[in-house]
Amino acid sequence: MAVKVAAKSFEVKTRNEGEVLDITREVREAVSSSGMSNGVATVFVVGSTAAITTIEFEPGLVHDFPEMMERVAPKSGVEYEHQRRWRDGNGHSHVKASLVGPSLSIPFSQGELVLGEWQQVVLVEFDVRPRTRRVVVQVVGEEGPRQ
Ligand code: ZN
Repeated sequence: MAVKVAAKSFEVKTRNEGEVLDITREVREAVSSSGMSNGVATVFVVGSTAAITTIEFEPGLVHDFPEMMERVAPKSGVEYEHQRRWRDGNGHSHVKASLVGPSLSIPFSQGELVLGEWQQVVLVEFDVRPRTRRVVVQVVGEEGPRQ
C-alpha cells in the first residue's frame, strides 16, 4: 500500500486565558477525510502561547489543569525577562505553552484514532487575550480500504 501525506487545518476561537477546548471531533474528521486506514496524525497549533495535549474533558480537570500550570509559571509574583523586553504581559503564557508543547502525535487504526474513551484531544489557551488559533492536522499513513 502507498504511503500518503495529507494536511488539514481548522480554526478555533478562544475566549480567555486558561481555556481548554475539546478539538477531538475536528481531529477525527481530519483523519476520516484523509481516506487513510492506518498511520499517525500529528496535531499542531500555530503560535507560541497555546498548547495541545490530551485530558479527560470533564469540568474538574478542565479547572485543575490550568490551575496547575498557574502554580508552575504564575502570572504574577514572578519576573519574566520576556515582560521586561516586550511589555506584552504574557511571559508566563509563553513559558506554559513551551512546557506543554505545541503538538501531539496520535496513532490511528482502521481510520479510528487510538484514544481512550476518557481521553480527549484539547487545545489549551495560555495567552492573556482571546485569540483565533489555527490547528494543523498532518496525517501520514497507508491509503487503502478499511477492513
Ligand atoms: Zn509575548
